[in-house]
Amino acid sequence: MLPIIYHSIYSELPLPPQHRYPISKYKRLHQAVNEQMNQELESGCIQLIESTALTVDEVKKVHCSDYIDLLTSGQLAEAKMRRIGFPWSEQLIRRTLTSAGGTVATAELAIEHGFAIHLSGGYHHAHFDFGSGFCLINDLALAAFKALEHPDVDKVLIIDSDVHHGDGTATLCQNMPDVVTLSFHCGKNFPARKPDSDIDIDLNREVGDQEFLTTFKSVVETAINLHQPDLVIYDAGVDIHIDDELGYLNVSTDGIYQRDYWLLNHCLNRHLPVGCVVGGGYRTDHQDLVEPHMQLIRAAAKVLSERCTQNIAL
Ligand SMILES: [Zn+2]
Repeated sequence: MLPIIYHSIYSELPLPPQHRYPISKYKRLHQAVNEQMNQELESGCIQLIESTALTVDEVKKVHCSDYIDLLTSGQLAEAKMRRIGFPWSEQLIRRTLTSAGGTVATAELAIEHGFAIHLSGGYHHAHFDFGSGFCLINDLALAAFKALEHPDVDKVLIIDSDVHHGDGTATLCQNMPDVVTLSFHCGKNFPARKPDSDIDIDLNREVGDQEFLTTFKSVVETAINLHQPDLVIYDAGVDIHIDDELGYLNVSTDGIYQRDYWLLNHCLNRHLPVGCVVGGGYRTDHQDLVEPHMQLIRAAAKVLSERCTQNIAL
């Protein structure tokens, strides 16, 4: 069974017109899953699960207590809110806590079921005591931290394939020896300052399918062999796509499918659970993001059906 985690609040955030953040992509993606995966949903192979919000205390296990208090009470300095890129509202806080709860649940469901997909998440620019680039709290670090409480999990590998560097995850996880961070990103892109992840792969602008996939596969394989994680948290960002408005790579829609299929298959062959988040993707027409993001769902459905046919336990 493939759990897909979602909440309607992900797309419920009033933003100024022309705002860069593709707020409606989550409900569009959820709708596409319902329409295109109806057989799998009816048979119970895929199950949609509603996420629940983290508490402030849960968030403070990873983030600075003062930052979270100021953020959640709407008292964060204006300049710090500008760095985040969203106007403050109670709805923004509810949405953020629910999305973080979704990624935490996704990691837990992955441990139970082999894999799980969150139709949100990947807020990797959130640091210990500040947010940036549309990221308030770091769901990836929170999910990794929480997963380590599970008796079967001694080490977590975060694989971040969003086109932007996972700077917040890198700094937050520096003090977590049992969390290994791996970031694939375009070297000449936001954020300008890229603190060290455990493994950083700076890709040149214009890198296409072949070079991307060869690098991705060999680095992921090496990282898994070297660190022997018990759980992978995977940010399947689609801003690596050639048509993305904030990425500078030239990966095609099929290239995204190949990346996601290979990663899921590779991990599940090793009985290594994978919790996936959809990560970034930026287009003026939000509907254009549905097809790139659906590649992860299709890849997971394919892996699932192959395993059902071959009677392989997930
Ligand atoms: Zn991104």
